[in-house]
Amino acid sequence: MSGVVDVGARLTKLTLSERLYLPGVLKGLAVTIRHFLRNLVAIRRLPTILYPERKRDYSDRFRGKHILTTRDDGTLKCVACYMCAEACPAECITIVAGEHPKIAYEKYPVVFDIDMLRCVFCGFCVDACPKDAIWMTRNYEMAFFNREEAIFGIDKLIAKPGLPVKDGLGYRPYYPGDGTVPPGDASSSPVIPGDGERDRLREKGIDAEHTTGPGPVNRSLDGSERGQLAVRQDPMVKS
Ligand code: SF4
Ligand code: SF4
Repeated sequence: MSGVVDVGARLTKLTLSERLYLPGVLKGLAVTIRHFLRNLVAIRRLPTILYPERKRDYSDRFRGKHILTTRDDGTLKCVACYMCAEACPAECITIVAGEHPKIAYEKYPVVFDIDMLRCVFCGFCVDACPKDAIWMTRNYEMAFFNREEAIFGIDKLIAKPGLPVKDGLGYRPYYPGDGTVPPGDASSSPVIPGDGERDRLREKGIDAEHTTGPGPVNRSLDGSERGQLAVRQDPMVKS
């Protein structure tokens, strides 16, 4: 019958050495040993690199792990506007906004999580941010043992002091020397609260002039909190 391979007939045509498979196995081993010895004497000409001792040079605009940038006073530049979360095609950013005790900053993220296992490292969040608050580093070394570890909260995302620009920072809205300039951070400028706003803060027992930085603790959501938030934020789910 045309198109049908008769395996039995093909097998009967094999020579004895082919049917034993051993010569083929030895031939394969010889190729492996030849490559092993050649690589041993010419280790510097290997097409592969000895990671992690050696690492490849990546583009200055490499998109790796994110960082949340900070103001001079150490507070996050993020104003919890949700634009990065809206722009994210992988829907992997979870933000919960809080009212900042310092009235000049208005809002801040109580929770800012990125699920690194869902992130496709496209950089859209960096492009969308109006506050220069999220950049991407050149750090690609992220390994996790479970999904919980892959959800990076503010504690893992906040920029550490003294981050070296050359080795640390990758994709960001501007680059020194190429004519691009950082977007203004209006919330950095001092704002005198109006009387009404000051009274409102006093009613809540907050001193608008002396509070610095976020009051409530910045933390990651646990699994059930993330689930509840997803239900609340999903317009298709009726409460
Ligand atoms: S890099 Fe892309 S996928 Fe990852 S968090 Fe940003 S917008 Fe989402
Ligand atoms: S990181 Fe930027 S875009 Fe995202 S919520 Fe904060 S200010 Fe908005």
